[in-house]
Amino acid sequence: MASTIAERITPHVTCIRVPIPNSPLRWTFVYLVDDPDGPVLVDTGWDDEESWQVLLRGITEAGIEPEDLAGVILTHFHPDHSGLARRIPEVTDAWIGLHRRDQWLLAAGEQNRSEVVRARMAEYAIRAGAPELTAEEEDHLSLHSLRESGALAQYRDLEEGSSVGTLLRIVETPGHTPGHCSVQISRDGLLLLGDHLLPRITPNVSVYSWDDGNPLASYVGSLLRIRRLAPSTPHMHPAHEGAVDDVPSRVDKVLAHHGHRLQELITVLEDGKPRTAWETAGKLSWSRSWDQLGREPMRRAAIGEAGAHLVFLERLELLERSGSTTLKWRIAPSWQRQGSSALHAACEEGYHRFCEDGVDEGDES
Ligand SMILES: [Zn+2]
Ligand SMILES: [Zn+2]
Repeated sequence: MASTIAERITPHVTCIRVPIPNSPLRWTFVYLVDDPDGPVLVDTGWDDEESWQVLLRGITEAGIEPEDLAGVILTHFHPDHSGLARRIPEVTDAWIGLHRRDQWLLAAGEQNRSEVVRARMAEYAIRAGAPELTAEEEDHLSLHSLRESGALAQYRDLEEGSSVGTLLRIVETPGHTPGHCSVQISRDGLLLLGDHLLPRITPNVSVYSWDDGNPLASYVGSLLRIRRLAPSTPHMHPAHEGAVDDVPSRVDKVLAHHGHRLQELITVLEDGKPRTAWETAGKLSWSRSWDQLGREPMRRAAIGEAGAHLVFLERLELLERSGSTTLKWRIAPSWQRQGSSALHAACEEGYHRFCEDGVDEGDES
């Protein structure tokens, strides 16, 4: 019977489908690059025994011994990508690379990790105006963080332009997480996208810190960046769902989704009342109703997503932020006076301008 675990997608790259237990996403696509300087794995998969066995089997089916791996690149810190990194040292002394901005959670020691997560989540909730975490949620979080995040001994920092082996180059694509990276294999005309762009699902874009960054702006910049790479890169493969065939049109769809989200936020806030991220998130439209989202973790992802859009509008100076413990946003008074349609037009114009020229032009050849 033909194998369904490992499939060669380009001359140097094999895709390994690593199952994610109980998830509608079903798999993380882990990529194995057969580099002349030693094979490199891109992402690992969810920390689960069966997933681990599938990963090892996939590597072997691709004709590589796991112990011969030279390195492991993690596109970002989310557990469906980083989870099995914890087990890599059992089979090889390969280095493990991740962008510095995504290392905060993984770098905390195994003992500390649940404390680090708990403290961050509690502070995050207070500032978002969300209810305190229940004991049950805290349990869930600490379990989560211990199980999923992986204990890593040896990090290698990845950053824009880092070369890995002979064939791989890091392309920073922040937004889905602050340190999200894609991996370019020019010789194969291939870009491995991680969770940056998927053919059907719109990746979550969240605030991770209320004090710095503009995640939606970063995300839009990263989308424009891969759109510019598309003409010279016939193959764009994310870590879920399947290849993105028409990158420019998919990018346009995702950009339009966020533009719509910004307009929705303006509508929620146009009565002039200051609101928290939690209050705002509850009034936006989600794929399921707010009540069905439940509390953890979907509602918290929704707060992060609302937050990313609030911060973006704040930077456009359409919103004004107040508060230090719990943050609130309202329409900036100068705009409030101009009324609803002027406000919506300014939102559209500001976002459009950003989507036209929101990033530095780099050398994308
Ligand atoms: Zn992710
Ligand atoms: Zn993912």
